[in-house]
Amino acid sequence: MTKSDVIIVGGGPSGSAAAYHLARGGARVRVVDSSDVLGGRYKTCGGGFTEKLWWTFPRSVFAEAAENTVTNLRIRARPNEELSAVHHSDVPIAHMSMRSDLDRSLLGFAVDHGAEFQPGKVEQISLDRVGNGNGRPSVTLQGGEKLTADYLVAADGAYSLVARTMGLPRHRRQVVAVEDEAYGSTEENWSGTIEIVPSISPMGYFWVFPKADHLSAGFGGTKKAASRIKKWARDYTDSHIESADHHLSGHYIPLRDPGYTSYRDRVFIVGDAGGFVDPCTAEGISWGALSGKSAAESIVAGDPAQFGSWVDWVDSEFYAARAFRNLLVLRVALRSRQILNDAGFWQTFFKIVSGRMTYQEWFSTLSRPTRGLLWTMNRFAPL
Ligand SMILES: Cc1cc2nc3c(=O)[nH]c(=O)nc-3n(C[C@H](O)[C@H](O)[C@H](O)COP(=O)(O)OP(=O)(O)OC[C@H]3O[C@@H](n4cnc5c(N)ncnc54)[C@H](O)[C@@H]3O)c2cc1C
Repeated sequence: MTKSDVIIVGGGPSGSAAAYHLARGGARVRVVDSSDVLGGRYKTCGGGFTEKLWWTFPRSVFAEAAENTVTNLRIRARPNEELSAVHHSDVPIAHMSMRSDLDRSLLGFAVDHGAEFQPGKVEQISLDRVGNGNGRPSVTLQGGEKLTADYLVAADGAYSLVARTMGLPRHRRQVVAVEDEAYGSTEENWSGTIEIVPSISPMGYFWVFPKADHLSAGFGGTKKAASRIKKWARDYTDSHIESADHHLSGHYIPLRDPGYTSYRDRVFIVGDAGGFVDPCTAEGISWGALSGKSAAESIVAGDPAQFGSWVDWVDSEFYAARAFRNLLVLRVALRSRQILNDAGFWQTFFKIVSGRMTYQEWFSTLSRPTRGLLWTMNRFAPL
């Protein structure tokens, strides 16, 4: 049996962030990922990451993975409709990457700082002796090898085996998302520009993200869209690219239920496994990384409750994020032309996504009646 201080199941952004901050804090840490390639293979993901990732990793880590820096947002009232407006941001709105490149950079950085990477699929998790305070979590890999540690970090994504083994329920609110990596010719210049089309029913949005040699386009929204979503994503890319070569794939994205278990005994749940995804933008890369960092810091400090306090803050932040999204949906439904041209609203959005303002700070500027209206919408909105 191999012993470490911490085992991390999953080497995506959340696992890599936990690994880097644990290794930096002096822990012996082992990252186990079912991919035998450092950083994994192709992942279904828009690959857009924001500067909130700097809260977890130094900027230099992304130099190779960032294919395109986005400073313009084209916002359109309906898919394939002419009516649109472009808003410019003085700070980057997002950076575009292929996830395999990004994940390789992040995990490689953690390994450079002392974390160990072990390829292997975790098939079984033993938590049975943890409850009495003396036991340690252990995992068994395909092939039978057993690893044990003082702490376990579950960074194993939306279908987390660790969370299931702990008997945790699936997150009630889930975004269904389909992405089309579309290759072909386009007359439009997409460099530095993303397109977003908010959708009212089913709630969600269409996106076009410019990659180095193709466009990533898709739709993410409520389960109501599930049966039609592939066709929508395809039609949407066809409207932007001539003779597109389509690579469609889909996944669901879990959104945190406030109060969802984030740690128990010696197990910490981070990233998609814990639903750490912005409910307004469905951005899970930087939030997953932040949750990994926060769990790591509380393990190093020997104070799990520290992670709990951070998670309480996130639950408040995500509440305000849902309010922001609901306000956008409401304004698109009522006066789409006005919201398209509301420069102040979009500059606030840029400040929030780039990490220069929190959703809670924005929420506190609203009048009482508006806050009351959004509170009601938050109660009844499907996402
Ligand atoms: C279509 C789509 C588009 C998206 N676009 C964006 C976007 O543009 N920007 C953004 O910020 N977010 C986006 N997201 C969300 C984002 O992909 C996730 O939130 C993010 O990947 C979460 O990171 P993670 O590290 O928690 O999990 P993951 O990246 O899923 O990593 C989990 C890792 O765990 C490993 N693993 C799982 N089970 C086991 C096991 N039993 N044993 C060993 N290893 C295991 C997997 O191999 C994997 O590497 C998108 C999601 C979808 C579906």
